[in-house]
Order: sequence, then C-alpha cells, then structure tokens
Amino acid sequence: MPVLGEDQVYVIKYGTDYHRAWCRVVAEAWDQAPRGLRVTLFADVGERNGCTGCDAIMKKISSVQENEGQPHPSLQLPPSDALIPLKVIGVAHGILFLAAGQEHQERLNETAVEPATPLSVDGRRDGMVVRLDATRTEPLLVVQLDPRATVTDGPYQMHLRRPLQRSATKPYAVESVEPAPRA
Ligand SMILES: [Zn+2]
Repeated sequence: MPVLGEDQVYVIKYGTDYHRAWCRVVAEAWDQAPRGLRVTLFADVGERNGCTGCDAIMKKISSVQENEGQPHPSLQLPPSDALIPLKVIGVAHGILFLAAGQEHQERLNETAVEPATPLSVDGRRDGMVVRLDATRTEPLLVVQLDPRATVTDGPYQMHLRRPLQRSATKPYAVESVEPAPRA
C-alpha cells in the first residue's frame, strides 16, 4: 500500500477529490483498481477538493496526538468527586477498618487501590491502604497501620484521583486516606 510522504496526498484517476488519509474511498480504490490510485504532491491537486472522510480521520488523529502530548493526563478530579468521608468501625492487630456511606458504593466499585497508598496523618505516613471492599453496602477500606501510629476516633476521609497506571482497569484510584479536618 502506497504511503504518503510529507506534502503528499492520494488522488484517484478520474476522481474529483484529493485524500490526505487512508479513508474508505482510498481503501476501496486500492482494493478494486489499485493502478488508479496515485500519490501526488499536494501542490499538484489542481481543481480537486479535499475529501471530507479524510478530514474526519485527520481530526481524530490530531486530537489523539494532543492528548498524548500532555505530560500528565490530569490525575486530579473535581473536588466534589474526589473526597469520600469515612468512619472508623474497628481497630485490631494493627489494622484499621474504615467504612464509607452506601451512597459512595457505586463510585468505590470503580476505584482501585494502587501500591503504596498512604494513610497520612499531619503529612506523616502512618500506614498503608491494603484493600478496598466495595461489594459491601457500606464499602470497607482496610488500612495496615505502622507500629508507631496512633488512631483517632474521629472521622476520616479518602481522596480519589485518576489511576497512575496506564493499564488500570478502573477509572479511579485511592490517592490517600487521612483524618478529616475538625470542623
Ligand atoms: Zn478521503
């Protein structure tokens, strides 16, 4: 299949359009009458018009390229989506159990726990989130506490973000867990 160089387009013998991409028209011509498909300089298209099918393809390609060009596809979520309140339902053997309200179950079903997700207290790491169980009506977050960590009885909260891992299968990930600021 003929490949376009820079400043080149496809034209089809007796056609009225020129083509900037491998669109359906070009593919059909290549299939049915390959000799009629020519590569020519864009400067030589003459009276021919740009093919609209190709325009759509080029638009798609450039929008994909733009997205990939961004160094960080924004891990941030809008604040209203990012914060989930938690309450302590138990502490045992260095494990802290936190529950979220059932109104958050749907979101947490779509949330992953990535490695090294911290429980952070005053900017210090006091533990690690090990598991999120959203199959329960009140989703459960399991945190392994560091030996020196102290647990407060007050409310906690969890921040969500977009996953860091490109292969992530869920659209959200836990960024961190922390005691909720006192009102
Ligand atoms: Zn075309």
